Parts: sequence; C-alpha cells; structure tokens
Amino acid sequence: TVVTRFAPSPTGFLHIGGARTALFNWLYAKRMGGKFLLRIEDTDRQRSTQAAVDAILDGLTWLGLDWDGEAISQFERKDRHAEVAQQMLAAGKAYYCYASPEELEEMRAAQKAAGQPVRYDGRWRDRDPSEAPAGVKPVIRLKAPQTGQTVLQDRVQGEVTVQNAQLDDLILLRADGTPTYLLAVVVDDHDMGVTHVVRGDDHLTNTFRQIQIFNAMGWDLPEFAHIPLIHGPDGAKLSKRHGALGVDAYRDMGYLPEAIRNYLLRLGWAHGDDEIISTEQAIGWFDLEGIGRSPSRFDFAKLDNLNAHYMRAADDARLVGLIVPRLEAELGRSLGDAERDLLKRAMNGLKQRARTLVDLAQSARFYVAARPLPLDEKAAALLDEKGRTVLKQLAELFAAEADFTAATLEARVRGHAEQSGEKLGKLAQPLRAALTGSTVSPPIFEVAELLGRDEVLARMSDAAG
Ligand code: GLU
Repeated sequence: TVVTRFAPSPTGFLHIGGARTALFNWLYAKRMGGKFLLRIEDTDRQRSTQAAVDAILDGLTWLGLDWDGEAISQFERKDRHAEVAQQMLAAGKAYYCYASPEELEEMRAAQKAAGQPVRYDGRWRDRDPSEAPAGVKPVIRLKAPQTGQTVLQDRVQGEVTVQNAQLDDLILLRADGTPTYLLAVVVDDHDMGVTHVVRGDDHLTNTFRQIQIFNAMGWDLPEFAHIPLIHGPDGAKLSKRHGALGVDAYRDMGYLPEAIRNYLLRLGWAHGDDEIISTEQAIGWFDLEGIGRSPSRFDFAKLDNLNAHYMRAADDARLVGLIVPRLEAELGRSLGDAERDLLKRAMNGLKQRARTLVDLAQSARFYVAARPLPLDEKAAALLDEKGRTVLKQLAELFAAEADFTAATLEARVRGHAEQSGEKLGKLAQPLRAALTGSTVSPPIFEVAELLGRDEVLARMSDAAG
C-alpha cells in the first residue's frame, strides 16, 4: 500500500508552500487508499520550537489534512539513526573520518585557490583508524561511489542524473554522535515504510545523496516526485507581499479551508481546464502525472474568486459562526441569540457578494450595529434635504403597512414612485443609506423585511433628522 508523508521542520509557521506539499501527499494517500504520515523534523535543536510544532499541527488541522497515527519526532529517533550509521560502518559502507575542522578549512581554501570545486577529498576513506590522532572524535562518513552515476527516476522531473564524482563522502553521524539530516531522513523514510516521497524540488540535490544512503543499506528506494516551487505573480521567488505567508495568515485574511485546498491543488496540478475542484473530486482524480513541471505563480485574485465561490456554497449557519467573532471584536460586545438569528436569515443575501470572511463580516455589520447607524461618505451625501424628505414619505407608508415583507414594501415604494413621477432608484437609494449606512447592500427590501418594522422606522427617523 501507498505510504506518503509530510516532513516539516518546525522552525517557523506552516507556510503556504509546505501546505501544498502536505495537500499533495494527503491527496495521493487518499486516492490510493494508503496512509499519510506526519514526521516533525526537529533534529535542529537550536531552531526547532514547540510553538512552531503547534502552528504546523494547527495549520494542517484547519486545512482538514488529517494524518494517520501519531506525529513522529525525528529527534526522538536519534539512537536509531546512530545505529544505522554503525551498521554501515560495520559493513564497510562508511568510515571514520578524523579530519579536524581546521584541517578541512585548509583543504577547502586550497581547493578554492586552485579553482577546484570545494568538496571533501576522501582523505580518511582508505586510512586505518589505528592512524587516528589521539583525542579526536571522528565523524562517520558514507563511502560513496566515486565512479559511475546516480540516476533518479522522478515522477515529475523525469530522469535526472548526477555524476558520482561530483558528490563527496557526506557525513552521516557527527562527532557528537548526532545524525545528519540526510541520514535521518533516509532512515525514517525507510522505517516508516514510505513508498512515495513528494516534496519541493529544492530537495532535488539532497535526493541523490539520500539515494546513495538507501543503496548503501540495500534498502528499496521510494518513488520520488519533486514539485516545482511556488513563485510570485512576477515570476520571482515568492515573497511575503505575494503570499509567502503562514496558513494562519490566510485564515485571518478570511479564506475558507476548502478554498485554500482547491487553490493549492490548482497551484501545480491540473485536471483539464477545471478550476473548481472539490476535495472529493480531487481525491478521485489526483495523480502524480498531473503535477506540472514549471513553477506556478501565486495569484490572490484567483484565490479570491475561489473563496467567493466556496462562501456562496457554504452553509449559512457555519458562515455566521465564522463571522461572529470578527463582528464581536469590531463591535466590542458579544452578540445575542436574536442577532445571530438575524445574521443567519440575512446570510444568503450577504454571501452572494463577499470575497472573504473579512468582507462578509464587514458587509453584515449594519444588521447588528447600534443606532444611530454610522454613515459612509456616499450614504451621507444621499441624505441631503431631498433624501430626508423622501425618507419621511416612505416612513409614513411603511408605518401604515400591515404586511411588512420585501415584496409588499417594494410594491408600495414602486407605487409611490409612479405617483410622484420619481425613478425607483431615487427613492430606494436614500432608504438604503438610512438602513445600511452604505450605498451598496443586499436587495434593500429584503434588508427591510429582515430588520423588521420597528428597527426600520427607527433607522429612517434617525436619518431623516
Ligand atoms: N524537513 C524538510 C523541509 O521542511 C522536508 C524534508 C523532506 O520532505 O524530505 O523542507
């Protein structure tokens, strides 16, 4: 069975590129009926923090990318990594290197001066440890093949080859007994039974070295799929301004997880021309062959369009739950049941227009704002003398109306427009300004019905002065 994994280093938030890698691994496991594992690559004790681990777990959970079993700590497996290094040593696939840091520095300086590539020259490869200088703790290095080539059959990049002469004998175990990153990844992927490694193509050079370690141990290679990185809209490396943010920032900006999933899926994977792909469809369709070979460009406008789509499709009660905390923070008070209920009834009208939950909360605010309603500039301009006269006339009509529904109110205002020879808009716009404080809103007679007679008349009287 297929086993994929996501292996973030907990040195920062779960950034958007990492989230896409996680999504692809998750989808592939789901598609193949396999398992998706999570490994926290926390061997760098200086840079790894618990806060970053929590942010990664939170981000994955929010995105709905659930992993099988417990998250595995790479650091906790360090004894196993050391054991494998010892096995390679015993099998003659690795050796002790006693070169001191100063000595290696000299070696590199000489290589640079001679215009040669800087790499470890294998000086301890064939020496006997009995020649070891006293008191020096050795590192363990891989006895990498020096001739021939290492070939990667990548599921995205195709066949990629490197000459072994270009790769030096990498360190497996440091002098203090801690494993290097390359060793840890290989041992963990093997022990976890990982069959497919899907990750960013910034790892491509590591992969050749990892293949050498797999081969030295005689372990089966997993399949590799290296995905091109995400670039900014200008084609340059993704910058903060262009979306290189943590998943939590997208949540704060008011995106729904299903919209982010769809967006990240399309960022680097295609299924014909389909733009809107539900997660269920993605699970049915996802394959490694559909991953593009060129870097994809981050595009906030596309993300906004998808988010608008998923907001329109979302359940009204859920959307209310998502905007209430935002509204409460803005209003500085908590919302009661009646207000939540009003928002729920208003939601269908509100969600047709919003691109993000921030927009949605903003556009819903007038329903629950305290009187007198703050007016934006354009709305205030509509409530000039003429506007206020209109409001007074409409208020009389509304006060006398027994059937306070959108259809009846609209019919009344239309009738009044015909009688007075005014265009409907000339009457509806001051009404909209009075009821919503703005010149854009959901259909105004629906708004009036939802607000109810008392509130409508009160707002009209506030605005009519
Ligand atoms: N820990 C690595 C990273 O955060 C990923 C390693 C891998 O996927 O093999 O980039």
